[in-house]
Amino acid sequence: MTKINWTGFSKKSYDERLEFLSKHNLLSPDHQDTLEENVLLTIDTANQMVENVIGTFSLPFTIVPDVMVNDKVYKVPFVTEEPSVVAAATFASKIIKRSGGFKTKVHNRLMIGQVALYDVDDVNTASSAILHHKDEILELANAAHPSIVKRGGGARDLTVEIKEEFLILYLTVDTQEAMGANMVNTMLEAIKPRLEELADAPSLMAILSNYATESLVTAQCCIDTRFLSRNSQEAHHLAEKMVLASRLAQVDPYRAATHNKGIFNGIDALVLATGNDWRAIEAGSHAYASRQGQYHGLATWSYNENAKTLCGELTLPMPIATKGGSIGLNPTVQIAHDLLGNPSARELAQVIVAIGLAQNFAALKALTSTGIQSGHMKLQAKSLLLLAGAKESEIPQLLPQMLTTKRLDSQTAQELLAKFREDS
Ligand code: NDP
Repeated sequence: MTKINWTGFSKKSYDERLEFLSKHNLLSPDHQDTLEENVLLTIDTANQMVENVIGTFSLPFTIVPDVMVNDKVYKVPFVTEEPSVVAAATFASKIIKRSGGFKTKVHNRLMIGQVALYDVDDVNTASSAILHHKDEILELANAAHPSIVKRGGGARDLTVEIKEEFLILYLTVDTQEAMGANMVNTMLEAIKPRLEELADAPSLMAILSNYATESLVTAQCCIDTRFLSRNSQEAHHLAEKMVLASRLAQVDPYRAATHNKGIFNGIDALVLATGNDWRAIEAGSHAYASRQGQYHGLATWSYNENAKTLCGELTLPMPIATKGGSIGLNPTVQIAHDLLGNPSARELAQVIVAIGLAQNFAALKALTSTGIQSGHMKLQAKSLLLLAGAKESEIPQLLPQMLTTKRLDSQTAQELLAKFREDS
């Protein structure tokens, strides 16, 4: 594949950006039309997706161009409303690419479902009875969703655990390219009556678990510290501070929550763009962040002073899908998958975790050096001006004035706009 030079992409006009993507065969003519016409999700389709539709709701659809994961370069689509997130991911990905990119690993890719039984007279006898009929239960589960078995997936294993007054059965399922919520739930409901019979007890519920500990993915990267600063002393100092910041997120839940929020700035943006269930991904990851009994920062960093490298690592449950749900229905989601090169669910999961690590790198670097406000300032000033009623054409004259004021607030924006209009 020819190397694409993305320098200056952010400075191009909207039309120029689409032209650039087309010129590099990253956007088909059909997709270009779809984006230009901005009729992305029709009411008819929206009506098929959810209930009580009264319209569709838009958010910016953007691209992080140069993300290298396992030696392959991805154009990563983002959907986000937050200023600076795309710029930060782009900046971090560029530096990480120059340092060799991300290396990732899929530990496993199975979904977990559970059936909770209660009022069990003898939990040990009930557990043994269920485990004794393991093969039969797995067959029952697979018979409830034969299409996934035909695709090479299906129920793989079951275990039983006693937790307080509950006897809980956990079923692991290979859902192939789907997230699998519906297929796992169908299987669980199919095995429920037999479990109740075997345990001689009622079931409280049968449902997929979003704590997807059998779908873990790890991303790592090692950044040459010369990319932190041209001054080697400064780079050394910054690397040390970033490691301290990583430590802070391990020991203080107040910092850990914000550390992880930054990671999800990128992850949610990509999960949303690819039509996936971001609530499921968030729920699983936050549960994973608390797995040792206290909520921790999810990404960690270490500094090798001799090798002059700052190395980061992030492991997350990532039960992501490329099929199912609303993925095939939303045209923008299809464009997002195309931009990524239509990866498999395993491949996509790796890019998503890598993006989380990139976002964390950018946040820690900014926080331990200039602070995040300097980067946010320009976008914040622009937002304030637009909110005050400024037109896009007035922004180039107003923005420099706004950035030199002492108070960056809505009143200043209104005053500047009023004066500007009076003078012109
Ligand atoms: P679907 O119910 O849409 O099932 C997946 C679909 O994809 C099936 O129709 C399947 O076809 C098709 N498919 C095509 N190719 C493949 C392939 N290679 N591998 C796997 N499936 C393929 O989606 P899920 O079961 O994944 O459920 C996800 C949805 O459930 C999301 O919308 C989610 O928001 C929602 N949900 C989430 C819950 C949670 O997180 N707790 C709870 C309940 C719902 P075929 O039928 O022929 O196999």
